[in-house]
Formats: sequence, C-alpha cells, structure tokens
Amino acid sequence: MPLKNMHESWEHQTQQKLTGRLFLKADNQLPISGSIKSRGGIYEVLKFAEEIAISNGRLTNMDNYAMLASTEFRQLFSKYGVIVASTGNLALSVGIMAATFGFKTTVYMSHDARQWKKDKLRENGVTVKEFNTNFSAIIPKARADAALDPNIHFVDDEGSNDLFLGYAVAAVRLQKQLKEHQIKVDQEHPVIVYLPAGVGGSPSGVTFGLKTILGPHVHAIFCEPTHVPSVTLGMMTKLNNHISVYDIGLDGLTAADGLAVGRPSRLAGKVMRTLLFGSVTFPDEDIYRYVTQLQDTQHITVEPSAAAVFTGIAPTINNMPTFNSPNATHIVWATGGSMMPQSEREANYAKGKQLIDSVFAHA
Ligand SMILES: *Cc1c(COP(=O)(O)O)cnc(C)c1O
Repeated sequence: MPLKNMHESWEHQTQQKLTGRLFLKADNQLPISGSIKSRGGIYEVLKFAEEIAISNGRLTNMDNYAMLASTEFRQLFSKYGVIVASTGNLALSVGIMAATFGFKTTVYMSHDARQWKKDKLRENGVTVKEFNTNFSAIIPKARADAALDPNIHFVDDEGSNDLFLGYAVAAVRLQKQLKEHQIKVDQEHPVIVYLPAGVGGSPSGVTFGLKTILGPHVHAIFCEPTHVPSVTLGMMTKLNNHISVYDIGLDGLTAADGLAVGRPSRLAGKVMRTLLFGSVTFPDEDIYRYVTQLQDTQHITVEPSAAAVFTGIAPTINNMPTFNSPNATHIVWATGGSMMPQSEREANYAKGKQLIDSVFAHA
C-alpha cells in the first residue's frame, strides 16, 4: 500500500526529499504469526505433513489436500514431531501450524522471548522449552535433540531450503501487486526493497524470489541492528555462518527481538553474495521512533523489528542518487506486528513518542 503521509513525515523528519514513491508490504498482517515467518513456516510444515501422508500411502497428489486436516490424519501425525528454535515469530508460525495438524510440537526459545508468545504457544498445545543463553546457542541444542528421533522434523532457521522457498514465493505476490499499481521494473524504473535481517533467511528468500522473477532492476537493502549485524558481518568477512557477532566483541543485544540473531544462516551469505545491493545498520532508538511515526501517520502497527526498514532509505538514496528519481519505487517490507497484545503496542508507541519529543525538546 502507498505510504503518502509517512512519506511526507519522513521527508520532514530527515530534512531530505524522497523523490520516488514509497510503499509498504504488509506482511505484518499475515495469518498465524502476524509476520513474514508465516510464509516460510507454514510452507515447511505443510510440506512435512504431505511427505508423511504420501510415504504412508494415505495421500496422492490427485487428492484433495483438505483431508490432511481430518481426525484420521491427526492420528497419523501424532506419531511424528516437529522441533523449532525461534526468537518468537517462527515459533508462532511453525508451532501453531504443526500443533494444529496434530504433530508433537516443541519450541526452543531463549528466556527473554516475549511472554505473550510463549503463552499463546502453550494455549495451542505446543511445548515451550526455555533456555538461559543467546539464541544462536539454542539452535544446535534443538537440532541435536531432534536428531535423536527419526520421526521428528527439525525446522532449521539456519539453513532450511523449505523455509527459504516459502519466503521466495512472496515475489510472486509482489509481482501481481506491482502490476496492479502499474509499476514497471527496468533500468529507468528501479524498485528498491528494504528488508530487516535477523538470521538472514527471510530477506534472502524474498530477494532470491524477486531477482528470479523481476530481474536485475529490483534491489535489496538489508537492515540490521548495530549490535547484531550478523549477515553483514558474515558477508563482509566472507566467513558467512562461520563467524558470529560475539566473535568480534559485540553483545548481540537489541530491542528488535526478530533480529537478535548473532550468527547468520548457512544460506544467506552464499545466496546473497551476487544478489544483495547493500546493507545498513541502525541504533535501536531509530526503530522505536519509526514505530510511533508509522502509527501516527498511517495508523499501521508494526513491531520494532519491522520498523527497521525505514532506517535503510536515507543511506541508500544518499549513496545512490539514481535511486532518488521520480521513477523509482521504494518498498519497505513490514515484516511483523499484528499479533502483538495491546499492552505491548502501547509500550512500544510510548517509547517512540518519548524519543521523538526529546528530539524536539533539544531542537
Ligand atoms: C524473523 C524476522 C525478521 C528477520 O528474518 P530472518 O529470517 O531472521 O532474517 C524480520 N522481522 C521480523 C518481524 C521477524 O520476525
């Protein structure tokens, strides 16, 4: 959707002109997790269910797949399990989807994951295991536990092809939306897409899809916290998943819980080496400000991780003046937020409001 008010407000706030058009891709409204994680997570769980049904001789690809939701299939699926490690949104996506099919579902989370997410998962019949370490240390633990039982499927946020391809399908949807808005993508009409990066899976999957379908004139910019630039670090050093932000003395702490992943995925660096246009880093205060600004100007609620996309615009057009043309289209990918409880929305908004007011107080 076009962000007319936010566009004006952004120009006023940054004291610079964004000459092209500004749109928001509303993945914050996707069902099940209220985030981009629904794209990858739901696809991976559906595919696992399909594989089991077919290998047990209970489904052919000519059948109506709606029968996978029946009681008979629930019984079959209850002999199998799904394990995922997640900072939050992937847990909601995979956890709720897998538990609904009847899989024994366990989610590994860090102790500082949002309480409402843990509550919601438990309400849906998911087992939540909490750990007192950073998220990158939890994934190997979950992977090892899953490997003990051949009937357990591990959803690997650090390298799953299925998650990656689920995210990539977003490009098919965006292509249709660009057509509806009569937006061309060519040398004279660049499209710049801003994506927040955590482990790097969702932004890489989306970018891979966009480049495959729309060609070379769609450009991806990844946005990461200054304390957790995991994908940027992996790509700049070419060490990819063999380096973490802790290795260079960063604390890995950020209010953007969806981006609090110290080690990049095995896929991100490899796939993005030839596809990524650029990346930016931002301090946490910026994202609270943008949460509040987007709420005030457009009445759109996003979580702090998703608001990170607005930090990418200024550095991009300042480094690439040709992207600041009337023919350019800028798309900020709002990756999550619609499932947040009211109390959390209000707390985020209040933090941003306070930051904005303090800027004016100093001016
Ligand atoms: C997970 C997530 C991201 C980043 O996705 P990665 O695959 O971890 O890079 C961005 N925004 C939100 C809201 C998320 O939940």
